[in-house]
Amino acid sequence: MAATLYPMTFWMIMAAILGACFGSFSNVLIYRLPRNLSIVGPRSFCPGCKKQVSWYDNIPLLSWILLRGKCRHCGTGISPRYLVLEVAGALCALGAFARFGVTLEGVSAALYLILLLDIAIIDWQHMIIPHTLTISGMVLGLAFSFFTALGPVESALGLALGAGVILAVSYGYKLIRGMVGMGGGDVMLMAMVGAFQGIWAVPAVLFGGAVMGTLYAVTVGRGQVAGETKLPFGTFLAAAALVVLLAGDWLWTTYLTLF
Ligand SMILES: [Zn+2]
Repeated sequence: MAATLYPMTFWMIMAAILGACFGSFSNVLIYRLPRNLSIVGPRSFCPGCKKQVSWYDNIPLLSWILLRGKCRHCGTGISPRYLVLEVAGALCALGAFARFGVTLEGVSAALYLILLLDIAIIDWQHMIIPHTLTISGMVLGLAFSFFTALGPVESALGLALGAGVILAVSYGYKLIRGMVGMGGGDVMLMAMVGAFQGIWAVPAVLFGGAVMGTLYAVTVGRGQVAGETKLPFGTFLAAAALVVLLAGDWLWTTYLTLF
């Protein structure tokens, strides 16, 4: 009886493992994309002894823990961010499956969440949103929409609306642009959001991102704004997209019951 592996448990374990692998690859993307380095080669090497990391020392979650965060050869510390992103990747996949079930919607949502995570971190660290990620996201979002409830028409409309709204706002409303620093990367990011989530999510994500960005600007980031440093708006948009995807319906019904 105890040996029975329930299908849902099986799929959740698979999702966590695959998510951790994507999280592991996210480490590569987050380091290399903003530096214009190739993401296919060379293979990862230790910054201490320059030795290549063997496949068995590169297993998501396990390797970092077994090696206690140190290089096998020279003992140079390996940043815990590798482990953190692998765990985050696993959580993205688990969250997507928990919300959408073991369906194509779930797979689509898992990939979307991991892309959002990578974009949020890269924009936060470098103030850029690599087109490689957003264009891949647009293609994936559109491709999945043919097989999910969203449908290709709404996906394409969402893509166009997402891009169009940011373009219109950044041309017409310089005040916000000056404050949060919207740029071409944000246009592409919102196009990706529209492709994955459809037209109705676009205003919700924009609103959520603006609220989070403003809250950050008037609290933690006060010094930054005074120093005319722009805020990474993409990070807030990505965070808002995650909330809208996982909890949007719930937030909306809760809001409606309040008033
Ligand atoms: Zn080493």
